[in-house]
Amino acid sequence: MLEDGHEVIAMDNQVSGQNSNLEDIFYHDRFSFYEHDVTEYIHVAGELDWVCHLASLASPIFYRRNPIKTLKVGALGTHKTLGLAKAKDAKYLFTSTSEVYGDPEVNPQPESYRGNVDPYGPRSCYDESKRYGESLVRSYREQHDLDVRVVRIFNTYGPRMRIDDGRVIPTFVRQALANEDLTVYGDGTQTRSFCYVSDLIDGLLALIDSDLQTPVNLGNPDERTVNELAETIIDLTGSQSGVTHEPLPPQDPQVRRPDITKAKEELQWEPEVPLTDGLERSIEYFAQHV
Ligand code: UDP
Repeated sequence: MLEDGHEVIAMDNQVSGQNSNLEDIFYHDRFSFYEHDVTEYIHVAGELDWVCHLASLASPIFYRRNPIKTLKVGALGTHKTLGLAKAKDAKYLFTSTSEVYGDPEVNPQPESYRGNVDPYGPRSCYDESKRYGESLVRSYREQHDLDVRVVRIFNTYGPRMRIDDGRVIPTFVRQALANEDLTVYGDGTQTRSFCYVSDLIDGLLALIDSDLQTPVNLGNPDERTVNELAETIIDLTGSQSGVTHEPLPPQDPQVRRPDITKAKEELQWEPEVPLTDGLERSIEYFAQHV
């Protein structure tokens, strides 16, 4: 956005974010940073064209350690940022998640699938707060005529993730680089579909440029088992690591793959970076930052 000439204000409470990720832009003329928790009232002077709410803990180990914060950022944070957009007459982007589909009974998941979520389950703090967030966004659109975008983001990875993020790619890469066994949860036959960060960003910008006011999936439909992912990372790092199996976390989704027909048709978007290329770039980053 800075490269495109926009003025950008970022807000983060640093619960899972890292200031070091802002080093390259921190002193940019058109960039400012507020340390702020979006569940609290937000004051911004001047006009805004867009409010983009991307804040959340997104890693299962982080949100299971902080379930109340996770619920608050999806519910109160969405309310505060919607209120800001309404006050500024700005457009609004909400980043929802593939987790609204829960442990899906259909694969791949189209936007029309309503999901299989346990409201009292161990992942519900994340899933249900994002489902509530979507409902709040829809309601601001209906009641206040706010111009909104809702994106359901599927597993995304790349440089600048925390090495202790806990999600599968940073964890496996850290383990492979240290020649430690990769910890595959369960039998490793569960699947995920991994999207490289630059593809995701291109999708978000395409959505911002569009008029699409209903939820759209963004992700890479290249579906892999966790076992395959472990083997690929061991190969690419040339590691001596083996694999150990640990218990599958309760209600870990068995399959996940986006149906991206809508994004292709409405946004003319589809991911371009193959898994091995994205993993190589991520491994290079993690090797420098371990
Ligand atoms: N996983 C694993 N070992 C790890 C971390 C994760 O086998 O050290 C598995 C996890 O059980 C899930 C998949 O990898 O089936 C993706 O997990 P992640 O935490 O990255 O995100 P999720 O897609 O579950 O939100």
